Order: sequence, then structure tokens, then C-alpha cells
Amino acid sequence: MMNKFTKGYLQKYRNISRDIEENYINLHPIQAGGRIPNDPKVLQTIIDFIDGYSTCDFCLTGKLNEISTPPICDLHEDLAIFCDMDSARLTPGCRQAQFSTIHALTSPNDTIIVDSLAHYTTYISAERAGVNIVEIPHNGGPLYELNFDIVSDLIQKIKNNTGKKPKLLFLTHVDYNYGNLNDTKEISKIAHENDIPLVINGAYSIGRMPISGKKLGADVMTASLHKSFASPAPSGLLLVNEPYDKIIFKSSEIQSEWSKRTFHNKEIELLGCTLPGVITMGIMAAFPHVINRVKKWDDEVKKAQFFSKAMENLGEIYQMGQKPHQHDILKFETPAFQKISDKHPRKGFFLYEELKRNKIWGIQPGLTKTIKLSTYGQSWDNLKYCIEIFSKIINSF
Ligand SMILES: *Cc1c(COP(=O)(O)O)cnc(C)c1O
Repeated sequence: MMNKFTKGYLQKYRNISRDIEENYINLHPIQAGGRIPNDPKVLQTIIDFIDGYSTCDFCLTGKLNEISTPPICDLHEDLAIFCDMDSARLTPGCRQAQFSTIHALTSPNDTIIVDSLAHYTTYISAERAGVNIVEIPHNGGPLYELNFDIVSDLIQKIKNNTGKKPKLLFLTHVDYNYGNLNDTKEISKIAHENDIPLVINGAYSIGRMPISGKKLGADVMTASLHKSFASPAPSGLLLVNEPYDKIIFKSSEIQSEWSKRTFHNKEIELLGCTLPGVITMGIMAAFPHVINRVKKWDDEVKKAQFFSKAMENLGEIYQMGQKPHQHDILKFETPAFQKISDKHPRKGFFLYEELKRNKIWGIQPGLTKTIKLSTYGQSWDNLKYCIEIFSKIINSF
């Protein structure tokens, strides 16, 4: 078994990694925003710090966010400023940031309110923390917008049923399925009137568009850096405003019985440390590119809107979710492709295969009833080319 890896076995997988990013138009929704900047300095930084705990030689206080050589402390400060939040910690992913938040702000059997278009990691985080979930419903197709009007009622119902108010309100800023961008005004007002912390999950917004956590009314924000911050995996971000920073970033108080050991410098929810080494340095190297790219968000929205319209113009293709769309994640109902797959010998795989032949990647193999993609970071020419290929496919079967 082990032999496989020493006999060039991995060589055959090369063409599903870097080759895709370099030689294909990759429309995969989870990959568009995590692509590493095409900058030799970024790649060099990643190589330089590739060995294990490479960032830890000068860890003098035992805290990743206080290391000054290399300047990881500055990175943390700047990440907080970039998102207009009080403090930041790196995590291995958005899910760990969500779990830390829910775990720190609740006790088992508490209830939290979550939007019904949240990512599965929100539900799993709540489950791991042992809390109950009440969902904010959505209005179904074709718009799939959340019904914020009933949130006040939900809070009241939870109070009546459990004798306690919900411990937090959780809103996914941009949902992963339809790419709907939620206005946070109404829900942040409700949260703050009821003195309930508002957690906003920016997995699909932080690193893509300009974000002010304070303007959004967030008490906590979570981000996925490998999804939306041009960073290597696994990487995420936990951003917290006062006074919740004292709870979420609480330091260890344990003292062991026999040895009397203590760990006062270690933050409990981070298990003491999160991202030593190459991942943190990859984030640092990508950061200047991310600062620049969020300034071009308006153009990204224009491209998404163009793509949506052009796809619909091909006939029997319908964009789901908000219109005009405000985000690069686009989901389409595609009877046009479904009809072909019903008759095609390769069934649902024909679409993936035709696209691949034309150097377009990222549409889920086998699916033709609906397709989901991201236009993020593609040139206008690339997008026009994709439309041309989709059109050719429809007209040639
Ligand atoms: C992808 C995604 C996540 C999970 O992110 P990880 O960084 O992989 O943990 C969480 N929430 C949303 C909305 C997502 O789209």
C-alpha cells in the first residue's frame, strides 16, 4: 500500500490540481475565490515556510497572534481593520470559527436562531456544541429570500417555550447555494434590541467584497480564507467585537492537580494555537492582493449579472435567487441541458465532458437539472467564451 506513494503514484493526480488553475477556466463555486494570486512572491513565500512549525522560532509569548518575526501580529491587526472588527484570530477554517463562537457563547441545550440557508457546517457546529436550532424560514423559489419578518416572533416563542432567550442569532451573509446577499439591517436591529449577539458568516463575502463588520451590525464574523481570500487550505478567520471578545478569546484558567501546571497565555477556543507555519504565511502573502481585489467588487457583480442574463438568453435556463444578482455565485435551473442528458449515451455526464473538452472546468460531473458556478475573477473574454461554448453545446445536440 505505502509503496504506491514512492513509485510516482501521485504524479497521475497532478492534472487535477495546478494544471486546472493554469490551463482551464475554472468556474467551480468553491474554488474561484481561493485561487492563489498569480505572483511568484506568493509562491516563494509558501515554499520558504513549507517546513512544519516554520513560523514558531520567535514565538515568545506562546500566542500566534503575538509573533512579530515574521509579522503575524501585524497580520492579525490588519485583518481586523480590513473587516472593521475589533479583533481577529486565524482558524483552520470558517467551520472552526463558527464552532468556537457557538461553543463560547452558549451552554448545552440552549437555543440559537439560524437562517435556513446556512451552510451545513453551521448545523454541525451547533450539534457539536449541543445546542438546539430554530430556523429563519425562506420564501422558496424562485428567489429563496429569508423571511426576517418573523424573527421577533421566533425570539418570543423561544422565550415562551424554554424560559430563556436564544443565545445568538446566526446569519449567513451570502448563502452558498443561491448566492443571495442578505441585507443585515433588519436582523441586526432585532438582535441588538433584544441584546442577543449577531454572528454573521462571511465565508462568501470577506475577501471578495469590501466589508465593514460594524456597519453590518455584527458582533462576530467568520470567514473562510481558502474559499474567499486567495489563501491555501485550511484557513479561516474569527472576528469579534467587544464585549464578546472577552468570552470568545478567553484564556485558559486550568491548573492541574498534581503538577500545578497552568497555561494562562493559551486561548481555550483556539486550543492554544491554530495555524502555525505555511498557511499563515500564505495568507500574509495573499493579503495585499485581496486588499486590491475587493476594490473591484462592482465589476465582479456586473460580470455575474451579464453572465446570468446571457445564460438565460440561451433559452430554457433560469437563474435562481435574487435578481439582479448581487454576487458571483450563480445557480441555474437548466431544462435545456436536462433534455439533452435524457437522450445522450453519457447521460448527465455529457455536459461536464463537453465543457472539459473546451477547457472549462468546475461544473459538477453528472448534474444537468441545475448547475452552480462562480464567475469570480474571470475576464470578460473568458465569460463570453463560456457563453459561446454553452450555446454551442445546446445547439449541437
Ligand atoms: C464553504 C462555507 C463554509 C465552510 O468553510 P470552511 O472554511 O471550509 O470551514 C461555511 N459557511 C459557508 C456559507 C460556506 O459557503
